[in-house]
Order: sequence, then C-alpha cells, then structure tokens
Amino acid sequence: MSDKELMRKAIALSINSVKNGGGPFGAVIAKDGEIIAEASNSVTIDHDPTAHAEVNAIRQATAKLGTFDLTGCDIYTSCEPCPMCLGAIYWAHIDRIFYANNRKDAARIGFDDEFIYREISLAPQYRQKALIKLLPEEAREAFELWQQSDSKTEY
Ligand SMILES: [Zn+2]
Repeated sequence: MSDKELMRKAIALSINSVKNGGGPFGAVIAKDGEIIAEASNSVTIDHDPTAHAEVNAIRQATAKLGTFDLTGCDIYTSCEPCPMCLGAIYWAHIDRIFYANNRKDAARIGFDDEFIYREISLAPQYRQKALIKLLPEEAREAFELWQQSDSKTEY
C-alpha cells in the first residue's frame, strides 16, 4: 500500500472510532507498505489513559512480530502524536512518522497535547506538576545490577 492509502486507513479508523465511542484517532503501523497493526483510541472504552491509537498499534505490532524493536516499520497516525506517543514511537524505534491533523487541530477540539509539549519544554520548577526527587541512593541498586549484568537484553 502507498503512504496515502495507509494514511487513509488511519483516518478511516479515527472516524470509526468516534462512531464506536472512542476518541477521534486512528493509527496504522506498516512495514514495506504492508499493514502490521491498526488501532484506534480506546481511552474511555478501556478506562486506560495510555490507550492512544499509536500506543495501541505499537502493542499490537510488537505482539504480532514478537519483538520490542519496530525498526523498519513506519507509523501512519490520523493526528500528530502527543508527547507520550512520540516517546513510545522513539522507544519502539519506528522509522518514519506520518500524521494528518496536527496538535493545534487537536487542541481546538479539546485534546490539548500542545499543553504537555509546552510543559516538557519548561524547566521542572516551572511546570504545573511537581517533580520530587526521593530515595535516589536506594534506587541506584537496580542500575548497578543492570550495569553489571551479563544476561541483559539492551533496548
Ligand atoms: Zn498519544
């Protein structure tokens, strides 16, 4: 399938999602033009604030391919990814990100990803959520174990 066909699929998923009680977002993950996963937003249906279309699609794709690494895959999302999804896309090593609506379009209908993008760009003391450091000495043990481990799978 072409990039436009894959995006039209993501857009169709976003439209169907609204009709089925989900948020107005859809995403497709493809490898060499072949669909690996397709999903829509299911935050309210699943009672899961992380169930954005992109995250749902990543979970499907990794389960289907049996790997945490989606190198070689592209994502087609009906809206520019929010910071959470953008982070998930980077962690998944997806190659290219195609989007249709942008974050300002999303903000206009009440999905204010733009607000989170602004928060991230601020120094922690200026953000609306407090970031409180606690027990770093005790937490270091896991990091040291990881560093010393010969059996770890790096990602
Ligand atoms: Zn998202």
